[in-house]
Amino acid sequence: MPSRSVTVPDIGDFSDVPIIEILVSVGDTVAPEDPLVTLESDKATMDVPAPVGGTVESIEVSVGDRVSEGSALLTLSGGDGDEAAGDASAGAAARPEADGSGAATESGRPAESGEPAPDGTGDAAPATQSPTGASVASEPPPAAAGDDGAGRDFDVVVLGSGPGGYTAAFRAADLGLRVALVERYGTLGGVCLNVGCIPSKALLHAARVITETQEMAEHGIRFGDPKVDVGALIGWKQSVVDRLTGGLSGLAKQRKVEVIHGEGRFTGPHTLRIGESQSGADGREVSFANCIIAAGSEAATIPGLPDDPRVIDSTGALSPDAIPGRMLVIGGGIIGLEMACVYDALGTKVTVVEMMDQLIPGTDPDLIRPLAKRIGERYTDVLLGTRVDSIRAQKNGLQVKFADEQKARLFDRVLVAVGRVPNGAKIGADAAGVAVDERGFIAVDERMRTNAPHIYAIGDIVGGPMLAHKATHEAKVAAEVIAGRDVTFDALTVPSVAYTDPEVAWMGLTETRAKAEGIEYEKATIPWAASGRALGLGRPEGMTKILTEPDGGHVLGCGIVGVGAGDLISEAVLALEMGATAEDIALTIHPHPTLSETVAFAAEMIDGSITDLMPPRRRGR
Ligand code: FAD
Repeated sequence: MPSRSVTVPDIGDFSDVPIIEILVSVGDTVAPEDPLVTLESDKATMDVPAPVGGTVESIEVSVGDRVSEGSALLTLSGGDGDEAAGDASAGAAARPEADGSGAATESGRPAESGEPAPDGTGDAAPATQSPTGASVASEPPPAAAGDDGAGRDFDVVVLGSGPGGYTAAFRAADLGLRVALVERYGTLGGVCLNVGCIPSKALLHAARVITETQEMAEHGIRFGDPKVDVGALIGWKQSVVDRLTGGLSGLAKQRKVEVIHGEGRFTGPHTLRIGESQSGADGREVSFANCIIAAGSEAATIPGLPDDPRVIDSTGALSPDAIPGRMLVIGGGIIGLEMACVYDALGTKVTVVEMMDQLIPGTDPDLIRPLAKRIGERYTDVLLGTRVDSIRAQKNGLQVKFADEQKARLFDRVLVAVGRVPNGAKIGADAAGVAVDERGFIAVDERMRTNAPHIYAIGDIVGGPMLAHKATHEAKVAAEVIAGRDVTFDALTVPSVAYTDPEVAWMGLTETRAKAEGIEYEKATIPWAASGRALGLGRPEGMTKILTEPDGGHVLGCGIVGVGAGDLISEAVLALEMGATAEDIALTIHPHPTLSETVAFAAEMIDGSITDLMPPRRRGR
């Protein structure tokens, strides 16, 4: 193939836009549609994709250069890639990409793997687990797991009352089983309700109210500076938690699930000793026919941290007694970034440090870019590819030394958000003959059975994405299998959401994984600058991306960044589970004007029927 100059494609009304990133180097081999450079207008970032495959012979531009349609970017030579569908503009904001290359995987619905979980800890699925919703199993379930319960105290004892545990207990009771739910703490609901999903989202809502009102100043509405009453804010957050955890206790009573408070440890294959509870109740031993381990996870720490109350984990960050002036967040994963978002809005000067070279490592870089840009502008610093060398507690603050920096920096608080570790090693599993790996995970099969056939495990403790909605679905499978139903956990995807500002959500196949595994796909991205609703919200930096089988086949994956992305992603999850094609989504009438239309636009872009933007060439029908 002769050399070919790649120029800036038609980028709509934009001109003289800066290049913010060059994604290739001289000598790199690129495939058609691989992103080459990233441009950024005041409304959106956009990747310019390779129009053909080849080797990068020379690069004519540098970061910071301003370019318009027709500006030369680089020269490609050699290679045998097909011309990308559409034209060289595919992928730029005014003409998002949609090519027709490649073939699908056999089923077109590849099983999920390797999705990052909060803080990137979720890639540790045990080998025997297939984290994929309940469906009819290909082989019959084992004959009644354990025994028929005769002579035992309970048919099922559930260890841990998080979203996995309470769901399993309630479902098992609804299926007619005698159930006990064991919880070491005084309230039900586990990490999610007490110190995780629910309190963090309440505080994130408060943060959103603050930043939205501040941003309206640009549009003619000015409020005064917020006066934060920390006690009242935390009290409100706690009232949300209390309402939900209290509700769970009521539901347990209605279902006649016996709730036993105290720390549980196995004493044999069919017995669990429950120690004295925090509330002082006496310990007791219970016997069971079947057990479901739902003991969850706890925050990981890093060795060598000073024992100082100013060094906190996410639980501490959710209940501050005051708003710190300067805070360091160690860990640029989901939990760290959500907490950073809260404190930034409350007025703290936030620094984030992440060991990897990207925030929320493992997520598609184009989804992270708008988030990185916004927090880069708001926070004191976002340090990527950087390690913390040491932290020294001093009277005037925590002195933190970063690798590669001579001078230490001073913070009032350090939040450690470096992942979560499963509680598998703390429940006396060997007494029951249950295998726990060296990291504390318990391997399970697709029916959530451990190596001991009458003992099941679900939720964070089995690995996979450490997410509440995964735990609840696994819980129903375990309870139903025990009740004799022929079901397995075989969801096609577990969606992930960072409830940051903007939110980042993804499901199914990611581009990162497709590229790593050579899975062919077709892609369309819709910049939210094309959405009237996003413009009206003052938040056009978002982006919706859909991946399908080549030639507009079944939906394989979806990624969304922007306000409310976490709610928008559900449509794509349903599309994947229902085996929908891009055309199915495009033909589904979405209400106007909504952000959900961006999902429909992306599908129309693949389908070729889009009218709100220019359709990719050669695909219009
Ligand atoms: P857990 O919720 O961890 O519950 C385990 C329970 O078992 C606990 O109550 C524990 O006390 C109890 N237990 C443990 N050992 C014993 C024992 N020996 N005896 C008796 N009881 C015991 N996920 C999402 O999907 N969305 C989110 O927005 C989200 N936000 C999060 C924010 C934060 C700050 C954190 C920390 C986590 C967040 N997560 C989120 C993750 C989510 O909380 C977990 O994935 C989920 O709670 C796991 O549920 P689980 O049932 O496996 O275990």
